[in-house]
Amino acid sequence: MILVDLHLHSTFSDGTLTPHELVRLGRRSGLSVMALTDHDTMDGNGEFLAACTSQGVKGIPGVEVSGEAPYTLHILGYRVSPTGPLSDALVWIRQGREERNFKICDRLSDLGCPVDMEEVRAEAGSDLVGRPHIAKVMLRKGYVGDYYEAFHRFLKRGAPAYFPRPRLSPADAVRLIRESGGLPVMAHPMQTQLGWDDLYGLVRDLRSFGLWGVECLHPTAGILDRVELIRVTRELGLVPTGGSDFHGDNKPGISMGVSMEATAIPWARLGISL
Ligand code: AMP
Ligand code: ZN
Ligand code: FE
Ligand code: FE
Repeated sequence: MILVDLHLHSTFSDGTLTPHELVRLGRRSGLSVMALTDHDTMDGNGEFLAACTSQGVKGIPGVEVSGEAPYTLHILGYRVSPTGPLSDALVWIRQGREERNFKICDRLSDLGCPVDMEEVRAEAGSDLVGRPHIAKVMLRKGYVGDYYEAFHRFLKRGAPAYFPRPRLSPADAVRLIRESGGLPVMAHPMQTQLGWDDLYGLVRDLRSFGLWGVECLHPTAGILDRVELIRVTRELGLVPTGGSDFHGDNKPGISMGVSMEATAIPWARLGISL
């Protein structure tokens, strides 16, 4: 068995560790393979791969994009070309994110909780600003008693300061990753909260657009879920993958690493020789 982690977030999106710090922690935790999968940006991959090389960990560049769907549907992309069509789409997605963030801040001010975009940017410490950063500023300013209250009362879908941001259709996310030379994997399938029949249909549809794998090992999947996910994945001829979705202190209680047979994944396709 080997310990790997193909789903990690850094300070380039909403994680609290830099790519370098992630790799150092990964090496200390005994990981053989790591992939960086920041939301909507591939900007951390250079630092990440350099750190992997210097620390003797096998590294895979990646990204995570959110699909437009009535449920949570995220697609991971591994080895996506930084000059391919997905990269162009990410520029559009980040612009939409920025415009959405301004709307949220305006609405929060109307609701008596003034939050300035500059404060949120400082909180993020990078160009990629998201609702987790807004929630942290709200907590610091005492508008809410804890991080989750910011989502429940203000920021989650259906709450008064919620605004949607532009997303790719799941089909386009999968296609653009493939057209950029990458490998698309459905992230944390249990987060869709679909029943097994619907989930099976969704994975089959995504496969028709080029899906390569399904993240069967993730903290949101229990042991029985994992058995069923791996069965479905293999039945459809796809690759079962796994990752922790580690965000550092932004998602307390999640530690790095998932354990699997070394032969479970065709590593060469991911550019890795074990
Ligand atoms: P954004 O990409 O800016 O729309 O923010 C999405 C992120 O917000 C997700 O990755 C989660 O980390 C966080 N998030 C979304 N909904 C909730 C919720 N109901 N409770 C806590 N965190 C949430
Ligand atoms: Zn995140
Ligand atoms: Fe996700
Ligand atoms: Fe994630």
